Amino acid sequence: MGRPTEILIDRQALLHNVQRVKELCPDGKIVAVIKADAYGHGSSEVAKILQDQVSMFAVSSVEEAQELRSNGIQTPVLLLEGCFTSDELHICVQQGFEVVTHNQNQVQMVEDAKLSGPLRVWLKVDTGMHRLGVMPDQVNPFFERLERSSNVHSVVLMTHLSYADGLNDPSTPAQLTCFQQVVKQLNDVGTNPFEISIANSAGILAWPKSHGQWQRPGIMLYGLTPLTEDNETSNQLIPVMIFRSQIIALRWIAAGESVGYGNTWVAQQDSHIATVAVGYGDGYPRNAKNGTPVMVRGQRCPLVGRVSMDMIAVDVTQLQEVALGDTVELWGQELSANEVATWADTIGYELVTRMPKRTPRKILD
Ligand SMILES: *Cc1c(COP(=O)(O)O)cnc(C)c1O
Repeated sequence: MGRPTEILIDRQALLHNVQRVKELCPDGKIVAVIKADAYGHGSSEVAKILQDQVSMFAVSSVEEAQELRSNGIQTPVLLLEGCFTSDELHICVQQGFEVVTHNQNQVQMVEDAKLSGPLRVWLKVDTGMHRLGVMPDQVNPFFERLERSSNVHSVVLMTHLSYADGLNDPSTPAQLTCFQQVVKQLNDVGTNPFEISIANSAGILAWPKSHGQWQRPGIMLYGLTPLTEDNETSNQLIPVMIFRSQIIALRWIAAGESVGYGNTWVAQQDSHIATVAVGYGDGYPRNAKNGTPVMVRGQRCPLVGRVSMDMIAVDVTQLQEVALGDTVELWGQELSANEVATWADTIGYELVTRMPKRTPRKILD
C-alpha cells in the first residue's frame, strides 16, 4: 500500500451539504464555488459529484474553468474575478463561461469585444467589502451600458458580504440595505428585470435576507461552517475532507526527555509517544501548537513537539491500547479542520485549500 498518508473525499457528505443549501434556500439556484481546486478537495472530482445538483460552478480564472471543461464538465461556469484580458471573453462565449464585471475596465472590455454571441454578465457592486465592485452611485450607468451592449444577453446584480459570520455585527444589515437601494435605483429608471446574488455560505446559514435568486456557497459545501459561534444550522454540515495517516513508530520516553526538533516539548511524566507519518509536506500546518488534538482510536491525543516535514509526534500515554498501523485522523468527521485551525492561528478554509499535490486524494463513495 505504501505511505499511508491520504485525503478521503466523502461523496455522500458533499451531497448532504448541497442538500442543506437547498433546504435553507428552497427558491434559489446554486452556484457552487469550486475555486482553488474546490478548496483543496479536487475541482473536477467535486464538480462531477455536484453537477446534477447545482446550476453553475464558480472559479477564479479561465484556466480553472477550462480545467473543468477538459474533464468533461459541461455545466455553466462563473468567473468570479471576471476576465483579465479581452481574449478571454472569446473563450467564455465558446465555453459557456459567464463573467463578473467589477470595474470600468471590464465593462469597457465587454463593450469593445467583437464576440460571436452574447454573454451573461454579473455586475458586482461594492456594498462595503471594498475589495471588488463598482460603487453604489456608479451602478446605474454601468448597468445601462451592459444592457445596451449586443455582447450581453442579461445582467445579474451581485455583491459580496464582508462579515456575514459576525452575527451581531451591523455590517451585514448595512450591506443589505445598500444593495436594496441599488436595486431600487435600477428599478426606478426602468431597467429590464434582473436576478440578484448576495449570499456566500455565512449568508446562506445566518442571513435569510441575503438569499437572492442565486446563492454562492463555498465552504459549507465542504462541510465546514464559516460561523464561529455555535449555530444549529451549521452543526448539520458533514466535513467532506478526511485527512488521515497512521502510527509508524511508538516509544516510551522518561520524564524530562524532549521530543522533536528544537526540543520544544519536554515530557512531564513518563510518556508514550507515537510517531505519525504526516507533516507540513503533506499539508499539516507547521505552526500547530503543542496540544493540538489528533484522533487516535476515537480519542483526542495531543500533538507534542514541532511538526516536521514528514512526521508529527503525538502523546498517546492516555490510551489503554495503541499499536503500530493505527489510523490517525488529522481532521475530518471526528475532528473539524476548523478546530485544528484555531491551534494553528488560521481558519479551516486555509487548511483544506493548501493541501499539497503529494498527498493522494481518494473518493469515498
Ligand atoms: C469564495 C467566494 C464565495 C464563497 O464563499 P464561502 O465563504 O466559502 O461560502 C462566494 N462569493 C464570492 C464572490 C467568493 O469569492
